[in-house]
Amino acid sequence: MPAASLRAGPTMEVRVLTKTELRLDESPVPLALTCRLCGSGYLRSFLDLGATPPCELFLPAEAVERPEMTYPLHVRVCESCLLAQLPPLITPEETFTEYAYFSSFSTSWVEHARRFVEGAVERLGLCPESFVVEVASNDGYLLQHVVGRGIRCLGVEPSRNVGEAAREKGVPTLTAFLTPETGAAVRAEHGPADLVALNNVYAHIPDVVGFTKGLRSMVADDGWVSIEVQHLLTLVQRTQFDTIYHEHFQYYTVLTAQRALASGGLTLVDVELLDTHGGSVRLWARPSEVAGEPSQAVRDVLAAEAAAGLHTAAGHDGFATAVSRVRDDLVAFLIEARRAGKSVVGYGAPGKGNTLLNYCGIRPDLLAYTVDRNPYKHGRFTPGTRIPVLPPEQIAADRPDYILVLPWNLRTELTEQLAYVREWGGRLVFPIPTLDVV
Ligand SMILES: [Zn+2]
Repeated sequence: MPAASLRAGPTMEVRVLTKTELRLDESPVPLALTCRLCGSGYLRSFLDLGATPPCELFLPAEAVERPEMTYPLHVRVCESCLLAQLPPLITPEETFTEYAYFSSFSTSWVEHARRFVEGAVERLGLCPESFVVEVASNDGYLLQHVVGRGIRCLGVEPSRNVGEAAREKGVPTLTAFLTPETGAAVRAEHGPADLVALNNVYAHIPDVVGFTKGLRSMVADDGWVSIEVQHLLTLVQRTQFDTIYHEHFQYYTVLTAQRALASGGLTLVDVELLDTHGGSVRLWARPSEVAGEPSQAVRDVLAAEAAAGLHTAAGHDGFATAVSRVRDDLVAFLIEARRAGKSVVGYGAPGKGNTLLNYCGIRPDLLAYTVDRNPYKHGRFTPGTRIPVLPPEQIAADRPDYILVLPWNLRTELTEQLAYVREWGGRLVFPIPTLDVV
């Protein structure tokens, strides 16, 4: 009997895939290891998480016996401008033209957007004659609040299907990627924007200079740009390495964000610290000609970053050690639990959980399965590590000794939601920022 049949069992047919099916015929993405912001060829290793599959590619059962593409996940810091970056191995065009994520599914995110619009209207004195543009406007989760106030607006959204959902809600939406050309076309057709807003997109753009020029070409000469993006300072301070994944091309300090904005003619004037996504910043920028001096808040955050070592390339060096300590503690715990005959299952199957599982090399021998509320993921397997994803009810049925919480950032909410595991003495395991068993 051929070895493949033994492995697959009697009911599963195993065949060898062609080179085309494996995508081996495609020419690899040209990979030039130069800084995308300043062009320097001196990139210093910041954190090497090995090679992993794209973190959202959960495998259907029939794919488990097949090979899987992996891509290096190695963040480097530019020695010259300090931008922390990943090479664009997976392009936004592949990810975003038919996007499955609708922002309005998250009620807390819609509420966050509503408060933002309220604050921006007040801060900038927006009125019905004003014009607001949101880049990566998704399904109109934010701009619906602008429409609701009778203020003129336009969404610029690359995903066709998601943009269609916005138009159905009455949010005018252009299907396009932002480039200097599309930015100029928006200005020519609709006039300059008093506010250009973007949330959780500035890190997802490999052509950061072209994109920033696109922002500048849309915003009025006395207008504002508001950018919400994850903050490298909190990522480092809270060891949030699992927020690193292939479609997240750069990781900003306020210093490197200032430099990125300057590349397109924008100047940072103010910053707010936010709790979203474990620690983000909201950057307020203006065309450099009218920007003036940055606020005290900008100076304070810059000082905190410098104190944490993030204003020199060498200052980034300790992070890899801190990350490997998280892995060592978690893996040691799982091995110890197995030796002691304890059962461990996961809770949640977020994309970022896959960075953690793959980097730590956790497979079903250490984590029997995980559960998730999203029915799309039921019966699928985590990319790379191939851990089965089951419905949440499985936990109460099996009464495991330990539950490893993969969306550890929702700690308060999940501690409450999972209180029932105490009935049988089950305990929750939070892997980040440091291993905590409660
Ligand atoms: Zn650089």
